[in-house]
Amino acid sequence: MFTTDPFDDDTLHEECGVFGVFGHGQAAAVTALGLHALQHRGQESAGIVTFDRDQFLPHHGLGHVSEHFSRREVIDRLTGRAGIGHVRYATSGVTVMRNVQPLFVELECGGFALAHNGNLTNALMLRRQLVRRGCLFQSTTDTEVIVHLMATARGGSVIDRMVEALRQVEGAFSLVALTPEAVIGVRDPLGVRPLVLGRTTGSAGGAYVLASETCALDIISAERIRDVEPGEMLVLDQSGVHSLRPFQPRPRRFCIFEYIYFARPDSIMEGRSVYASRQRIGRELARESGVAADLVVPVPDSGVPAALGYAAASGIPFELGIIRNHYVGRTFIEPVDSIRHLGVKLKHNANRSIIEGRRVVLIDDSIVRGTTSKKIVEMVRGAGASEVHMRISSPPTSHSCFYGIDTPEEGKLLAHKMTVDEMATYIGADSLAFLTIDGLYRAMGCPDGRNNEAPQFCDACFTGDYPIALTDRDAQTNEAPLFAIRA
Ligand code: SF4
Repeated sequence: MFTTDPFDDDTLHEECGVFGVFGHGQAAAVTALGLHALQHRGQESAGIVTFDRDQFLPHHGLGHVSEHFSRREVIDRLTGRAGIGHVRYATSGVTVMRNVQPLFVELECGGFALAHNGNLTNALMLRRQLVRRGCLFQSTTDTEVIVHLMATARGGSVIDRMVEALRQVEGAFSLVALTPEAVIGVRDPLGVRPLVLGRTTGSAGGAYVLASETCALDIISAERIRDVEPGEMLVLDQSGVHSLRPFQPRPRRFCIFEYIYFARPDSIMEGRSVYASRQRIGRELARESGVAADLVVPVPDSGVPAALGYAAASGIPFELGIIRNHYVGRTFIEPVDSIRHLGVKLKHNANRSIIEGRRVVLIDDSIVRGTTSKKIVEMVRGAGASEVHMRISSPPTSHSCFYGIDTPEEGKLLAHKMTVDEMATYIGADSLAFLTIDGLYRAMGCPDGRNNEAPQFCDACFTGDYPIALTDRDAQTNEAPLFAIRA
C-alpha cells in the first residue's frame, strides 16, 4: 500500500509558480527549464501552453515537471516563440487534471491561456454570481473565476477584459497570460505574491521572461530586469514591454514568509537576497534569544541559512547535526503501526558523532502542527544530545494564510492553541523561542521594526492582520458552499 509522507501535512506549502516567455525560438524548452527551477513552489502538477501561428498548444500532467517535459517529442510539439507555464500544489481534495494550469479558453476576442499564483478571497462569492448567470465551470480552481469574468465582460480587447475582470477580484494574484500577440504579467495591487521580469541574452537573445522567482531566470541565463510592481500589468509583445497601471495604488504588502521559507535561497525578491535575509534573520534570532550551547544545528534544508546567521552572531559552532535524505519520494510504502514512529527518519537522521553529549540549539523556520518538531527533538535527544534548545526563525504561526499558501485551519496550528511554554513542553525541548515580529522586520531592513499603522509586509499568519478582505469567509457563513473552491 502506498501513502503520502505522513509529515507532509506539517509543513506549509507554496501553491504555485508561474513562468512566461515572449520572443524565444525555444519557448517551450525555456519554459520547462523555468518550471523546473520553480518546482519547490508546487509538485502536484505542471503545464505549458505555447502559441504558434494560429493555434495554442497545451501539454499538462500530474506530478513533477521532469515527468512531463523531459521528453523531446513533447517539447518539439510545443512550437512557437511565446509560452507560459505553471507548477501547482493542490491543497485538500483530489488532484485532478481539470485543475491543472495553465487554463485555456476561447473568448469572443480570441484564445487565451492563464496561469495563477495566489488565491482569490472573493472567488466563492463571484463564482456563485457567475453560476447564477449561467456560467459552466470546468474546474474547482479560483483562477477560472477570472476567465469567466473575462468572458462575460462588456467587450473590448483581451487586455480590456482582463482589467475589467481583475478589478472585480480580491486577493493575491501573480498571473501570466498568453494571447496570440502577447504574454501578459500582472500582480495584485498589494503585490503579495512575487513576479519578476527578465531578459535572455546570447545568440538566441532578446526574449523577455516573467517568473515567480529569479532562480527561474538563472537557469536559462536570463538577467533580472526588475520586479513587476504591485498593481502593474506588463504586456510583452513584438514592440517590447509595455507597462499599464489599471488599479488604484495601494500600499505594498509583499509576503514576508517568502523570505523565511517559501522562496529558494538563491532567489532575489523585491531586491533582497533570500539567502542573505535568512542569515540576517538568524543573527537577529541569536541576539533576541541566545542560549548557552555547544552546537548550532539547522533542521535541513530550509533552516540552514538562518542557522549560519545564528552561529555567526552567537559564536557557537555551526554543525550539520541532522542529515537530510534527498531521495525521499512523494510516496513510500506505508509502515505497519509498530514501525510508524520511524517515519521521520525517512527524511532526517541525527548525526550522532556530532551531537552526542553536546548542548544543541536546533534552528528551524517555523512550527505548523508541531508533530515534526516533536519528532526531531526526540531524534536529537535519542542521538545523545545533553540539551536540546529549539529556536524558530519566524514568529509563531498562529493564523491561516488565505493568499496562496496552504496552511492548516487555525485550530490545528500549534501556536494558535498553545503558549510558547506549552509548545516547548509539547515538542519536548529544554527551551523554545521564536523570532519576534519586530526582530523579523529589523532583519528585513526596517530598523524600527514593524510599522503597526502601515505594515511594510503581509504578516497575517503571524499577526492576524489580514491586508485583503476575506469575503469568502462571510459568504461561507451566510450560505452553504457551492462546492470546494480550492482543490
Ligand atoms: Fe505570506 Fe503569511 Fe501573508 Fe500568507 S498570510 S501571504 S504566508 S505573510
